Amino acid sequence: MIKILIVEDEEPIRNLIRLALRKAGYSTVCAEDGMAAADRLEEETFDLILLDVMLPQVDGFELMEYIRPSGTPVIFITAKNSVTDRVRGLRMGAEDYLVKPFEILELLARVEVVLRRYKKTDAVLEVGGLHIDTISHRVQRGMEEIPLTPKEYELLLLFARNPNTALYRETIYERVWGGEYIYGSKTVDLHVQRLRRKVGWDHRLRAVNKVGYRLEV
Ligand code: CA
Repeated sequence: MIKILIVEDEEPIRNLIRLALRKAGYSTVCAEDGMAAADRLEEETFDLILLDVMLPQVDGFELMEYIRPSGTPVIFITAKNSVTDRVRGLRMGAEDYLVKPFEILELLARVEVVLRRYKKTDAVLEVGGLHIDTISHRVQRGMEEIPLTPKEYELLLLFARNPNTALYRETIYERVWGGEYIYGSKTVDLHVQRLRRKVGWDHRLRAVNKVGYRLEV
């Protein structure tokens, strides 16, 4: 599982990011300041770091000096929509930056792009008897190609990248359809049913009571 370190001193924002990343199937560790982050970095390695610039004691830029030798990709989070800050972050080797306030979907998209750039997510996935080529968007079972609609393909990819993880209907909806989930909407369920049939995942794509769905592999 992909592990992300969140360094952010504002608790509500930290919790929001943590929840969103967890729902999207990432493993998360939080640090409330630069010192705590440095401690965690000494103990374990991460696939990605989300780093707030304005931190008490050791700020994000100082911490970046400490992180850089490890080669771990960093996305800066900044409250200041200042060009100087952004340029400084990127010059220091940050992969990207987010300006507060940001949409959760934007955060998830940027995280995904950086992870892909670092080959943390594979171009070809072999999941549940399927061969998924994420470059050409081709899905095969053995030699047989399975035609999917764009939404079905995105849905498949979401499950394939988060195996054995319960995904909330809200998360699925937001990730695939990109809008706010309306409680009681059957869009997700209908598409999951169709996808199940098409790819032969009847016994793999399980409904999780009061949550959504989980791919079992
Ligand atoms: Ca801050």
